[in-house]
Amino acid sequence: MGSIEAGGTKWICAVGTSPSGIVAETRIDTTSPAETLGLVLDFFRSQPVIEAVGVASFGPLELRKDHPKFGYITTTPKEGWMDADLVGTIGDGLGVPVQLDTDVNGSALGEGRWGAAQGVGSFVYLTIGTGIGGGAVVGGEPVHGLAHPEMGHVSVTRHPDDGFGGLCPYHGDCFEGLAAGPAIVARWGDEPRYLAPALGRSAAEMEAFYVAEGLRAIVFTLAPELIIVGGGVSHMDGFFPAVRSALITTLAGYPGLPEHSSDAFVVPPGLGDRSGIAGGFVLAERAVRTP
Ligand code: ZN
Repeated sequence: MGSIEAGGTKWICAVGTSPSGIVAETRIDTTSPAETLGLVLDFFRSQPVIEAVGVASFGPLELRKDHPKFGYITTTPKEGWMDADLVGTIGDGLGVPVQLDTDVNGSALGEGRWGAAQGVGSFVYLTIGTGIGGGAVVGGEPVHGLAHPEMGHVSVTRHPDDGFGGLCPYHGDCFEGLAAGPAIVARWGDEPRYLAPALGRSAAEMEAFYVAEGLRAIVFTLAPELIIVGGGVSHMDGFFPAVRSALITTLAGYPGLPEHSSDAFVVPPGLGDRSGIAGGFVLAERAVRTP
């Protein structure tokens, strides 16, 4: 099987069957679509024949199979990548079925198979880094509809001490606009760990507040059994205890499920930074089953 984790700065391509069963892997810098996809095809052509490729990609993506631009990246601000045809280029180039999903839905599938969500039917994988994205698996299936969920752009209640306008180019002070890594740095002047201790504590506390606000919207909308949070911001000191505590506060006892207060409800990825490449293998398997 072939697995691809396609990101705005790098593409990871792997051949194998699972994150622990990788026989070849390469990293390709993201440049133009033609150059990047050319190198991706070169890599897989240099390997023994594969049966299918799964791609967990940055987006937004067109995932409706009956749409003329199925398999394309759509309205991305990433220069040159708008209307890049991922499924067509990779599928035609290698002559194998390709299944594409968002990077976060892919990561969710990888965590469901080999990571923190094994045996869990409905859960969310959220990443908080340079942006915020969420993938959802409900009843074992990744959630799609018109496009795919954009959990980073939900509205959040403002922290009473926050006068920062927010950085989202579309919405200003949505979840991503207030709580992604660049928003933290723009608001406070630096990452919390580099600030004076009192200021750093305030920054970390405000971040936990906003993450909990975003999680509240997810909890009340999708009723997940588990929420996995990855991405660079989640590596902040004390992130998980602070977020769990803030989530309990903002849920305010409603609907009163003890599971929401458990330390096992909001957790880091079981696969570290390998959730996406793991998800590519799951997508490749699905491509074989339903080409
Ligand atoms: Zn937004």
